[in-house]
Amino acid sequence: MRKTKIVCTLGPASTTYEQIKAMALAGMNVARINMSHGSYEEHQVKVDNVKKVREELSIPLPIMVDLKGPEVRIGTFEEGKIDVVEGMTLIFTNQDIIGNNERVSITYKDLYKDVKVGDTLLLNDGLLVFKITDIRDGDIYAEAQNSGVLSNRKGLFVPNVKLNMPFLSDVDKRDLDFAIKINAEMVAASFVQDAQSMIDIRNYLESKKANPVSLIAKIESQQGVNNIDEIIKYSEGVMVARGDLGVELPYEKLPAVQKLLITKSRMQGKFVITATEMLESMITKLRPTRAEIVDVANAVYDGSSCVMLSAESAVGVNPPNTIATMGRIAEEAERNIEYHEMYSSSPFTLLDTNDAISHATVSTSFDIKAKAIVVYTASGTSARMISRFRPSAPIIAFTSDDRVFHQLSVSWGVIPRICRVYTATDDMFRHAEKVAKKLEIANPGDNIVITAGVPLGKNVGTNLIKVQTVE
Ligand code: PEP
Repeated sequence: MRKTKIVCTLGPASTTYEQIKAMALAGMNVARINMSHGSYEEHQVKVDNVKKVREELSIPLPIMVDLKGPEVRIGTFEEGKIDVVEGMTLIFTNQDIIGNNERVSITYKDLYKDVKVGDTLLLNDGLLVFKITDIRDGDIYAEAQNSGVLSNRKGLFVPNVKLNMPFLSDVDKRDLDFAIKINAEMVAASFVQDAQSMIDIRNYLESKKANPVSLIAKIESQQGVNNIDEIIKYSEGVMVARGDLGVELPYEKLPAVQKLLITKSRMQGKFVITATEMLESMITKLRPTRAEIVDVANAVYDGSSCVMLSAESAVGVNPPNTIATMGRIAEEAERNIEYHEMYSSSPFTLLDTNDAISHATVSTSFDIKAKAIVVYTASGTSARMISRFRPSAPIIAFTSDDRVFHQLSVSWGVIPRICRVYTATDDMFRHAEKVAKKLEIANPGDNIVITAGVPLGKNVGTNLIKVQTVE
C-alpha cells in the first residue's frame, strides 16, 4: 500500500472520462487543474469527468485549482521575437508599445519602483539574464549578460526583490470564482511571497461564502522561502514548486531548499507536494531516466506527502503508465525507510493536547507493532496530525464529511473512508475492527490503535486512544 500520494495535472492527454478513469485506477490521488493553460469550458469537462469517476469508483479524488498568480510578463515584438546579443541594452518600459530591438513593454507597470540599478532580470526560464544599468521615467535599462532569442509574452523574474503588485489579480479572482462554482476542495496559490498572500485568498473565498478549501502555498521565490514559517501557519499545504524556484534561486540551492520546506511543513502537520520535472522524460517516453527514478525516490526519503506530475500527465504520451511508474518508485523507496528511527529522531515540541495525543498514538502503534491506526475525524485535523509523524502502520481515517474525505487524499499514509457519525464509543470500536479486517490490514489477534475526539462529531479535538485486539 503506497503512502506517498500522487498529484496529476490534467490537460489534453487527460480530459475524457476514459482517460481520467484509467489514471485513477493507475493511482492518481489528486486531480490538478492548472489555470495557466486552457479555457473554462475545457476545465469544466475535466471537472465533470473527475466527479463522475470518483463517484463511480467510490474513491477520494479532490480537485485542485492552481491559480496563475501575480506573474510579470513582457509584451509582444513587431516580429514576434528578437535576437538578444550579449552586451546590448534593452529597455523594459511601462508604456504599452509593440516591442523591437530597443524596447519592450511589461505587464507590471510599477516594476521600476521596486527594482534598483544592479538588480538582475531573468527571462525565458532564466536562460536570458539582464543587469539593470539605469532607471529613468518609468523605463528600466538593462544590459544583456548573454545571447539568445526572446519571444512574445515571456515571463520575467526579479530574484530577491519583493514586488509590491497586488497579490490577487482580476484573473486570479475569476479563477477563484470558477473554483467556488465547481466546489473545488483545494486551491493552490502561485508565487506566494508572504502570509498576507494566503490571507488575501482566504478572505476572498470567505467573502464569497465558499465551502472550506485546503489552501496550498506554492513556494517559488527566495521571498517565499524566507517567509516560510509565517506562510505555513496560514496554509493547509505547501508545494515545492521547483520549476520557478529553480529559476529564481541559484539552482544548486534547490536540493537543500526542498528538504527545508518538506521538513518545516511536515512538522506543522501540513501536507507538502514536491513538484516539477519528476518524470519529465516520460512526456515522450515509456521509461524514466535513472536520474528521474532517483529524484522521485529522494523526494519520498525527504518526507514529501505527495509527488506531482505536470506535463507528464497533462500532455504526456501515456499518463496511466507514468502514474504507475511513479507509484512503483515511491512504494519501493518507502520499503527502505526506517519509520521508527525517523520518528524517534524528529525534533518536535508538544504544545497542546492534540499534539500529545497524536504523538502518543503513533508511539503506541510502534510499541505494540499495531497493524493500523484508525482515526475518527470531523475536520481531518486529527488524521493530519498523526500523518506528520510518519507511522509505519496505515492510517485509516473515518469522517462523515464528504469534503474532508476528498481533502485527506493528499495526506501521507492516510486511507480516507466515509462513515456515519457514531454516538457510542463501543459501536465505533467495533466498526474500526470490522473495517481493518475487511481491508485485510488486520487479522484476529492483531492490535490496532483507535483515536478520536469524544463526544463524537462535536469537533472537540482528539482526546481518546484505545488499543483494540481484533477478534
Ligand atoms: C513550478 O513552478 O514548479 C510549478 C509547479 O508551477 P507552475 O506549473 O504553475 O508553473
